Amino acid sequence: MDYLKGLNPAQQAAVMQTEGPVMIIAGAGSGKTRVITMRVAHLVASGVDAFNILVLTFTNKAAREMRERIMHAVGAEAKNVWMGTFHSVFAKILRVEADKLGYPNNFTIYDTDDSKSVLRAILKEMNLDDKLYQPNFVYNRISAAKNNLISWQEYQQNDQIQADDFSSGRGQLGKIYETYATRCYRAGAMDFDDLLFKTNELLKRYPDVLYKYQNKFKYLMVDEYQDTNFSQYLIVKKLAAINENICVVGDDAQSIYAFRGANIQNILNFEKDYPDLKIFKLEQNYRSTQNIVNVANSIIANNQEQLKKNVFSEKEEGDKIKVMRAFSDNEEGKIVAEGILQERSTKGMKWHDFAILYRTNAQSRSMEEALRKLNIPYKIYGGLSFYQRKEIKDLIAYFRLTINPNDEEAMKRVINYPKRGIGDTSVDRIILAADQNMITPWEVIVNPSKYIDGRSSAQVSVFATMIQAFAVITKNQSAYDAALHIAQHSGLLKDLYEDKSVEGLNRYENIQELLNGIKEFSEREDIEDKSLAVFMQDVALLTNDDKDNKPDADTVSLMTIHSAKGLEFPHVFVVGLEENLFPSQMSLNSRTDLEEERRLFYVAVTRAESKLTISYATSRFKFGTLISCEPSRFLDEIDARYLELDFTAKPAPSSSSFFDDERNAWSKRGDTFSKPRPATTAPVKTTSILAKAHVPSAGFAPSDTSNLQVGMEVEHERFGFGKVISLEGNKPDIKATIFFKEIGQKQLLLKFAKLRIV
Ligand code: ATP
Ligand code: MG
Repeated sequence: MDYLKGLNPAQQAAVMQTEGPVMIIAGAGSGKTRVITMRVAHLVASGVDAFNILVLTFTNKAAREMRERIMHAVGAEAKNVWMGTFHSVFAKILRVEADKLGYPNNFTIYDTDDSKSVLRAILKEMNLDDKLYQPNFVYNRISAAKNNLISWQEYQQNDQIQADDFSSGRGQLGKIYETYATRCYRAGAMDFDDLLFKTNELLKRYPDVLYKYQNKFKYLMVDEYQDTNFSQYLIVKKLAAINENICVVGDDAQSIYAFRGANIQNILNFEKDYPDLKIFKLEQNYRSTQNIVNVANSIIANNQEQLKKNVFSEKEEGDKIKVMRAFSDNEEGKIVAEGILQERSTKGMKWHDFAILYRTNAQSRSMEEALRKLNIPYKIYGGLSFYQRKEIKDLIAYFRLTINPNDEEAMKRVINYPKRGIGDTSVDRIILAADQNMITPWEVIVNPSKYIDGRSSAQVSVFATMIQAFAVITKNQSAYDAALHIAQHSGLLKDLYEDKSVEGLNRYENIQELLNGIKEFSEREDIEDKSLAVFMQDVALLTNDDKDNKPDADTVSLMTIHSAKGLEFPHVFVVGLEENLFPSQMSLNSRTDLEEERRLFYVAVTRAESKLTISYATSRFKFGTLISCEPSRFLDEIDARYLELDFTAKPAPSSSSFFDDERNAWSKRGDTFSKPRPATTAPVKTTSILAKAHVPSAGFAPSDTSNLQVGMEVEHERFGFGKVISLEGNKPDIKATIFFKEIGQKQLLLKFAKLRIV
């Protein structure tokens, strides 16, 4: 029972309570995931068959790590525990049961790109205005319907939905949903949401199947329960209905997927669903220093909607949280990279002790550039996945079509790549013929002369024969042999080989890498069926992180905050703390959205173990233009006692030239410019340092600025003293660019700016 040693009494109690419904809603870093892990270890050690345990995690990575820990505690038996994300676990079950729903067992999983491509084709056919019916919007709408278990039939019959759609001028959404669903079905394809939607359908329509899995999964556990949607909630509830050995853990303060349908209601429902529920409270944070925990608490206290929790740390007080200001996004990258370099050498840390977290993927560019310049090894998680690259998708599309010839998106992708004289018009004709004859496009392709006229039908026929030959080879040979054969005989490898550009070489190497991966798969000893079809089963669900699974690689981690959920790092940098970026512009319209952004910030800061650094830039390139940025309101909300400002960064010489001298003169004059401001020691929550950055001069009153000139010195009510460096536009819309001592450069519309000429 060694595994119980590393647990406090509350955690131990939760681990031992294996029977009946259990819920743990507790703050970040309090050991929720550890409790789930040790619970599984305890179950296995007490003789429960590992095959009877199901653990649902948020990422494949989390599942892998958990499995390793359980193996460590109880040995190889841990391999047999069912563990994975909702999508991967239920895709596996659907593969077994697909025929009941009228799908082939080797159904394709359409990724988001495939789904949007299907939608674009439908919108075009229906001649719909692509402003009103943007593919993204339509996709989200259908996704939301599916996650609320609304079928296209129900969608069309729901008066409320219909009324809403018609009043917004989008009355065709129901029809689009129908066509989309039928197209996917015809192609033998499920999209991501279908993996949950169809599982629900399966469990509802087939009580015997439900019964089978209820008996199989005698013990269920769900991590990150706050981020489950209705569809996931219902699957769990159904599976647990007989044994009721269900344990969910989560933190309402970390709910960050409402935009994808996650519902806090699931936590509240849980109490209603299981009145004899046992609730365990975990209050001690074992991850972070006191300063970090205090900052996190002070952030989340600004949210109105939250379950009250007491979170404390008994680790050391730790360093204060450093706030760094940069003058541009590139400079932000630079100071972060330099910070890492310095910390590593002075404190003897490893690269993998550092993580850089950002709100949006686009922010990785400036970070990457800076890290490369200093030769710092890094890895981006959850970025454009290896499997999303064009050349990889192309080859995989050949595999998909070979395995499931009805896969229409795969067909469209490769029928004329590499070029074989089957143009877009021919493809349109194939699809039209399929629609008119109520058959699948593949049935047209294998018999082209019957359905489409002369010229291209010969080429189509050759294509069909090629794919059929691939199918025979795929059935009879190992995944690797089949894959190599397809790469060669489709002409794809040759096409890439002939492209001698750097990108071409890169693409060729990526294909080699994919083939290597398939080779490894073909040589595995723990799988019986090593066919390409089996290799392909999960590919659509894989992310970059799964492919490159080398936990001991010593690299700095870069990722969005969303993908950092559940993880921890000794030193975390949270970058881009600016209004309109974090909180994002889209969240500023409602309190609910703003509170979700704040929870996201809470997730970000609670990833840090011993050191946390926050940064922002005062200007940033966005869509190709330089815009000036204001520090995020979230900075204002942090209790100033825990902060230390580092405003020592100077504008890089390259970022501006003309005003450097003046700036330097300013910085010499300004005595507070380069010094951290002393933190207030007020015992109660105070407004933050940043809000206090400027106390307006006594009797401050905005003065008439209609005669403002370049070079004049001004005082702004909030931004403090500055100097006008340029003026543009005409009255009354003159914009002034002002260099403020405290916060750097800003552009202000004069008619609104609270300015005083000094
Ligand atoms: P999050 O909400 O971020 O997912 P969590 O509640 O799941 O956090 P864990 O990741 O399980 O928290 O634990 C946080 C850290 O604290 C981990 O490094 C874990 O190993 C450690 N930890 C948890 N419980 C204890 C304990 N009783 N003693 C020592 N360390 C612990
Ligand atoms: Mg966790």
